[in-house]
Amino acid sequence: MVTGKTFMKFTTPLVAAAAMLVAACAQENAPRAVPAATPAARHQPSISIGASGPLESRPARVPSSYNSVNTSRPVVALTFDDGPHPEFTPRLLDILRHEGIRATFYVIGRNVQTYPEIARRIVAEGHEIANHSWSHPRLTALSASRLKTEMTNTSDIIQKVTGRRPTNMRPPYGAINDRVRQTITRDHGLDVIMWSVDPLDWKRPGAEVVRRRMVEGATPGGILLAHDIHPGTIDAMPGTIKDLKAKGYGFATVSQLLALQDHPSSPRTATPVAQEQQTVVR
Ligand SMILES: [Zn+2]
Repeated sequence: MVTGKTFMKFTTPLVAAAAMLVAACAQENAPRAVPAATPAARHQPSISIGASGPLESRPARVPSSYNSVNTSRPVVALTFDDGPHPEFTPRLLDILRHEGIRATFYVIGRNVQTYPEIARRIVAEGHEIANHSWSHPRLTALSASRLKTEMTNTSDIIQKVTGRRPTNMRPPYGAINDRVRQTITRDHGLDVIMWSVDPLDWKRPGAEVVRRRMVEGATPGGILLAHDIHPGTIDAMPGTIKDLKAKGYGFATVSQLLALQDHPSSPRTATPVAQEQQTVVR
């Protein structure tokens, strides 16, 4: 029993605690509309993941090919290919920092070798850096050994310069076939990332056209393609980001987007990529 000054000092907290206890007991003893969850039931997965079994036994995601990511969340990934560029990549990084968003840069290995400080800045500012080959060849035309060299040398220089080893890649020109895809996913352990929106910015149609194409093409889980080697693309970004934000979109790196998949172990998430697509220069 608490008395005297001590009582006065603690009476209010005690009353409050007692009231909370009573409320908790009343809630505990109240009739329930639904059966109480058993401890086992509370650990059941809250989402269905199809035929692949319970969440706990879900296997680690294996590398695959993606045009987009299966998610209902209003999130897109901005991706920028072919840099680092000594002028345009820093300009883009300034814009992204001002907007407070993160993107993914598919860099060319020899450009990383030439501009290592820009590659380091990409990583230091929270963006993802990924493999776009060493010299931007059409991978489908390469021998097995040359393909390996293009892939490995690029991941090696990125790791040497930034301390990060890429977990995904984008084939130059979007040129891919079963042989190249299997080599990249199985031998190198990288996801192949294509895109769901192509504003054809490399044709330099003007910033407003790039902006409109990217915004109109955006969908939840979309992967938006652009190039940080064209001035019009950089000019298009403030408006593009503003419009996407106004439509309710958030921004993620490609790896973050892959982690948001609604059904990560479902084969539905790996959108088949057309073989040998694109003959234009990207
Ligand atoms: Zn490219």
